[in-house]
Amino acid sequence: MLSTDSSTSAAQQVLQSVFGYESFRNQQAAIVSHLVEGGDALVLMPTGGGKSLCFQIPALVRPGTAIVVSPLIALMRDQVQALQQNGVRAEYLNSSLSADEAFRVESLFRQGDLDMLYVAPERLMMPRMLELMDASKISLFAIDEAHCVSQWGHDFRPEYIQLSILHERYSAIPRIALTATADQATQREIISRLDLHDALLFNDGFDRPNIRYRISENQGNAREQLKRFILNEHEGEAGIVYCLSRRKVEDVAEWLTAQGMCALPYHAGLSSDLREHHQERFLREDGVIIVATIAFGMGIDKPDVRFVAHLSLPKSIEAYYQETGRAGRDGLPADAWMSYGLQDVITLRQMQEQSQAEESRKRVERHKLDSMLGLCEMHSCRRQALLRYFDDEMPEPCGNCDNCLTPPETWDASIAAQKALSCVYRTGQRFGVNYLVDVLMGIASGRVFERIQQFGHETLTVYGIGKELSQGEWRTLFRQLIAGGWLSVDYEGHGSVRLTEAARPVLKGEQSLTLRKMLKVSKSKNKKVSASFSGGNGRLWDALREHRKRLAEEQGVPAYVIFHDATLAAMVERAPQTLEQLGRISGIGERKLEAYGESFLEVIVEFGEESSPKADTVAESLVLLAQGLEPLEIAHKRELTLQTVYRHLALGIEREEIDLDDVVEIDAKSLRALAAAFEQQEGSALKPVYELFDGEYDYGVLDCVRAAMKRASA
Ligand code: ADP
Ligand code: ZN
Repeated sequence: MLSTDSSTSAAQQVLQSVFGYESFRNQQAAIVSHLVEGGDALVLMPTGGGKSLCFQIPALVRPGTAIVVSPLIALMRDQVQALQQNGVRAEYLNSSLSADEAFRVESLFRQGDLDMLYVAPERLMMPRMLELMDASKISLFAIDEAHCVSQWGHDFRPEYIQLSILHERYSAIPRIALTATADQATQREIISRLDLHDALLFNDGFDRPNIRYRISENQGNAREQLKRFILNEHEGEAGIVYCLSRRKVEDVAEWLTAQGMCALPYHAGLSSDLREHHQERFLREDGVIIVATIAFGMGIDKPDVRFVAHLSLPKSIEAYYQETGRAGRDGLPADAWMSYGLQDVITLRQMQEQSQAEESRKRVERHKLDSMLGLCEMHSCRRQALLRYFDDEMPEPCGNCDNCLTPPETWDASIAAQKALSCVYRTGQRFGVNYLVDVLMGIASGRVFERIQQFGHETLTVYGIGKELSQGEWRTLFRQLIAGGWLSVDYEGHGSVRLTEAARPVLKGEQSLTLRKMLKVSKSKNKKVSASFSGGNGRLWDALREHRKRLAEEQGVPAYVIFHDATLAAMVERAPQTLEQLGRISGIGERKLEAYGESFLEVIVEFGEESSPKADTVAESLVLLAQGLEPLEIAHKRELTLQTVYRHLALGIEREEIDLDDVVEIDAKSLRALAAAFEQQEGSALKPVYELFDGEYDYGVLDCVRAAMKRASA
């Protein structure tokens, strides 16, 4: 067995050489070394927190093959592809493989030629698989999405229950169970069902600090709001829009497409081929929006989803948190945006009343919906409330949700609520919100009035006592009264509302109500991530993405499997000039450096030169040159890349502040040859000339020569 020190350094070595990351995050190091040394672990970590490395690194450090249990076929394939890109010997076994393919993988496993084997839980329990495992050397078991073992949870998988067999059958092999969603009850269930009583618990909480939560009301214009939101903040970026019904999915996808966006529908009514196709496009192409029913997203591991938008209310906070959690796995800023209205609240309440479930189950569901509605209507920090729901306390308001950023105005709604409730009561608890608002407003003409007269309601004391508020304001108030449980919606589905027990103290004036005011739609200043990425050099950013896309298409893998956005962003920012410099960027391990390093460097050199540095930084390099420093010395002193320094010097030459021979010594003959080479090609790209001379001249030198030629011809 390895000692702690050597296991830590072996793990550190794998982190850097295989994955290209500098250091472990949060509790990763502790989890990894615990596992390497043979301990069991239960890991609670938010999505995007870096759970995978917690078992992938021990899998590479410990001898034998790691068995990774994962419930989602699509996710397995992505993870295995990503691992293979890093040179890891990983494969998967699930129902999507042909018999031949499965046989090949099994042989690799038997021969001990696999570092990691991903397996679907139902497969794991088959006698054939158990025999195979008995005959092989296993380094560890990882049980991903461990909350699937919980019967009360939202993703219950019966096959997970049987996973306790692993402990009975292979008691000496370490196990790690991981999840991003488990309240305390679920945690206890995981421990008992998987027999993890001796496991160490690592709890990183559930917070997703990079996600900005925003929930707004609408008066039936949610689509418009969505369009504004996407165009203002996420144009050309990938996102998911959730709707409740298939029809709405189709509608919204079509409408967004008509507005010039690339939006694809996804729901159970489409053929499985088409669904698959749309999902693939979403994964592989940049900037695709998926419009989906809630069924979409399990197993979507795409790291660069920049927004998740809800056009319907989720049924519970668990569902909301899981769906919004698909945004921003890469840790970069992302939005969870929702717009909801009176009709959403009524529909959900009705669906619940009509549910055929047992009373005990219904009670649970009612509580879940109440909590969700409470989250929507609250006026304090949403993140605090979300985390509290998962038993995860956050001491201070977050500063990154709508309520923190633009605190909503509230008003004392006690009197208005009394009027509304008593209007419900006086009209016999048989009418819907629209009619009740008409009575409160005292509408006195047209068909509406005829209807009011028909019931004799124009003689009631509540008729016309609500003129101080607008129709929209009354509707908002009714929504809040329904959401808050002071009014209930009828069972039959006509949308009429009744008083609940809770309404009594409000009606009698014993309880006062403070509610949020309808928000004026404000322009948000959220910048697009890609805009802040491109760091002034949008062309290089685009060129890098284009190059990545080509490589991904060649291999039939999603673009992010080649490099993440954050890695490309670092390339733009640091403009590395050598493989060694490139290899220092986070997310570039040895295998990827070897496979892609050269070609990305070429793109950087080709397009990196387009950026125009600020005058004072150019001047600083020129001053150092005048003081007698070589370009390389200037680069060291200023902590810039050599190419950047040459760029400064080239600008100096172009502006006649210095001469070419202040920078480099080139004999006249070579200079003529270079000049001829530049003249021969159209444009003034450096790469063809660089190649023509077989790399004899640095890009930086060529940059300066080109500058001298420009000056000569000007
Ligand atoms: P989870 O499974 O918890 O949702 P992942 O394992 O997919 O999260 O990790 C999320 C992202 O963070 C991935 O892009 C991963 O490569 C990256 N990541 C994880 N650990 C580190 C680390 N120590 N340094 C840099 N990036 C990391
Ligand atoms: Zn907040």
